[in-house]
Amino acid sequence: MDQKVQEIVADLKAYLEYLKGMGIETLRVTEEKVEKVIPSEAPTLEEIRRELGDCKRCKLHRTRSTIVFGEGNKKAKLMFIGEGPGYDEDVQGRPFVGKAGQLLTKIIQSIHLEREEVYITNIIKCRPPQNRNPEPDEIQSCHPFLEKQIQSIQPKMICALGTFAAQTLLSTDAKITSLRGRVFELGGIKVLPTYHPAYLLRNPERKREVWEDMKQISAWMAEEDGGD
Ligand code: URA
Repeated sequence: MDQKVQEIVADLKAYLEYLKGMGIETLRVTEEKVEKVIPSEAPTLEEIRRELGDCKRCKLHRTRSTIVFGEGNKKAKLMFIGEGPGYDEDVQGRPFVGKAGQLLTKIIQSIHLEREEVYITNIIKCRPPQNRNPEPDEIQSCHPFLEKQIQSIQPKMICALGTFAAQTLLSTDAKITSLRGRVFELGGIKVLPTYHPAYLLRNPERKREVWEDMKQISAWMAEEDGGD
């Protein structure tokens, strides 16, 4: 919190204590008024990237070539969150540009969107050696940055790609097979887990279920656009 906000919070706290002393325990405040007193603190993606810097917060920095921060529309209504960069992503510094990425591009296009219209990122920003699964300490180190990305973009919907994205976002250890296709809510944002494109490359018979999930997302998008 910066100094000014801290002062406002301290003043407010003192005022509320004073009211409490007067026997007033509850207050009714409209959202509009709150917005005027405390400005939105959502950081920009550039600020978040700057804060991440040449990150050495976990051991993955020793083996990565490039940090893969994420890319796309800074104000996307729809965000795709995968697991972590693979070989191609690590080389290029961009998310989902390898074989699984090409499939993700097709999945996005199947609902008449382009990659540039959505935002694409991962749970962890650095490639694990030999593409092994992300470890809990690595996920934990990266998580504040993912949270800030979500806070900055303020998407209406997040499509969680695969086990790690779904479990991390929803703080659960439930299996992707039981999470897939269900709609969850995370701080006012809809979260729909689906299978990871890399899993689809190995199990193409599962594409039909992902198509069903994309149809759900597309229907929300249409609803959202109607509501604007
Ligand atoms: N798999 C992921 O989870 N993310 C990428 O960026 C690429 C492959």
